[in-house]
Amino acid sequence: MDLWYTEKHSENVGITMKTTKTLFSGKSEFQQLDIVETLEFGRMMLLDGLVMVTERDEFIYHDMIVHPALFTHPKPKKVLVIGGGDGGSIREIMKHPEVELAVLCEIDGLVIEKSIEFLPSMAAEIDGTNPRVKLHVDDGLAYIRDHQNEFDVILVDSTDPIGPAVGLFEEGFYRLVFSALKDDGIMIAQSESPFYHAAIQKKMYQNLREVFPLVEMYQAFIPTYPSGFWSFAFASKTYHPITNFDHDRAAKRKFHSRYYNEDLHLGAFMLPTFARENIAK
Ligand code: SAM
Repeated sequence: MDLWYTEKHSENVGITMKTTKTLFSGKSEFQQLDIVETLEFGRMMLLDGLVMVTERDEFIYHDMIVHPALFTHPKPKKVLVIGGGDGGSIREIMKHPEVELAVLCEIDGLVIEKSIEFLPSMAAEIDGTNPRVKLHVDDGLAYIRDHQNEFDVILVDSTDPIGPAVGLFEEGFYRLVFSALKDDGIMIAQSESPFYHAAIQKKMYQNLREVFPLVEMYQAFIPTYPSGFWSFAFASKTYHPITNFDHDRAAKRKFHSRYYNEDLHLGAFMLPTFARENIAK
């Protein structure tokens, strides 16, 4: 019998994938966690039934949530990831030698535990063996309150604005992030799909603009996310993602990135009109 996983992106549209095996299925105090084998996308993590990461296309999301900020900030020494329990963002951050410490603040320890067990290609750097990585199992909303003027870059690698992540899209949280950043800090947040989530984006970018002097959106193609057209918010105290981008450092990077490159960095900030108009000031 064929087993198909389906995620509905709207009432009448979704994605469906043939799966072969369930590797883990369990409920934490925050959410349902499933890790399944798929025929075409490798292993896939689901939280409350929604696609979080697949082995085949996670490189796109993790390249794009990490590298644009770390090649724009001139000296990103201390980086915080809120969410990101699969470890993919930390893996990419570790490729930047100037980063002295990456802190992961993930609310659900079960996500970390099962990512280490079943998704080693993503979770390699969060297994406790890397001295440049520090793990916290905590609500990002609580953690951020205790840290002022501490981080060069903060990445909000969260689930959608439902359940434990609702507060991570609010103005109050962005104010806390602003004060946790140094005076030239940058915040990146996954900001959903311009095609399916216009209302969420409009509110999110309004909230960001209440707090940060510089807010831009950039895009990436992620086949297993709703519509495949995904976005990230670049919120900055001083640096601009294009004029302050260190093209040379990005071009001379010592690692191979299958999605990100120094030319795509520039192109990603060019948006289709409907997406740009929806978040305009
Ligand atoms: N790439 C995925 C996406 O764009 O939806 C995100 C993947 S990562 C697994 C999302 C993580 O955010 C989850 O592990 C979830 O537990 C975590 N999370 C949700 N709300 C959180 C909060 N308030 N504080 C810290 N982590 C949170």
